[in-house]
Amino acid sequence: MAMDRVDAYLEAHRADFEEQLKALIRIPSISAQPDHDRDTRRAAIMIRDDLAAMGFASELIETKRHAIVYAEWLGAPGMPTVLIYGHYDVQPPEPLEPWLSPPFEPTVRDGNLYARGATDDKGQMFTHIKAAEAWLKTSKSLPINVKFVIEGEEEVGGASLEAYVAEQTKRLACDYAVISDSSQFAPGQPAITYGLKGLAYFEISVQGANRDLHSGTYGGAVANPLNALATILASLKGPDGKIGIAGFYDDVKPLADWERAEFRALPF
Ligand SMILES: [Zn+2]
Repeated sequence: MAMDRVDAYLEAHRADFEEQLKALIRIPSISAQPDHDRDTRRAAIMIRDDLAAMGFASELIETKRHAIVYAEWLGAPGMPTVLIYGHYDVQPPEPLEPWLSPPFEPTVRDGNLYARGATDDKGQMFTHIKAAEAWLKTSKSLPINVKFVIEGEEEVGGASLEAYVAEQTKRLACDYAVISDSSQFAPGQPAITYGLKGLAYFEISVQGANRDLHSGTYGGAVANPLNALATILASLKGPDGKIGIAGFYDDVKPLADWERAEFRALPF
């Protein structure tokens, strides 16, 4: 019953929500460009105010760079607490030539909304906020406790959030963390993204002789740096795609059979 009322509320306010989302997207909150610091701040304030108007205790946390929006609704004692992460900053839109419509003028084409930040991450973040709003408007409460942490530095390394999380472990304590910054697998097919590969990168210098060495005299005895480098690079990964670095897989959980079955069932 409660869920039906939520669905009805979301449907009834669909057009209004789309306009609100467009207003947020029109703000060029480009965290990497100091020229846009005032815009980035405007986006944070808009989200803080939206959450406050819904009944969340909502505030801006000042940082060395861009503010973090923190908001909580803890009116469901005994129920789990979910922390929802999102970010209101966006990547710079350059280069501009390939854009079919201006990056900060949200435009609907074929039923999709196109603009910088529409899917990363303003759209997804907005979905969570409006879901909470629908519950609060229709049931006067949420079925669980909810904390929002919405940062403005995701596209520039997130140093302020890292520091904030480290110093506010009690405040941010939760049973589940939901990251809004991910995607659906396909239209009409939502996804729970619970694992992503990370990055590891290195710079390797291989030094050899500082002059040409006569191949007849030295060939085969003194390693050529190019060959040495090729050997090193080739050893990182086998032809089967497995990484050859000793210990690399020590902390990696193997895929379970049910996960393989789920992957096979996807329309890919
Ligand atoms: Zn993102």
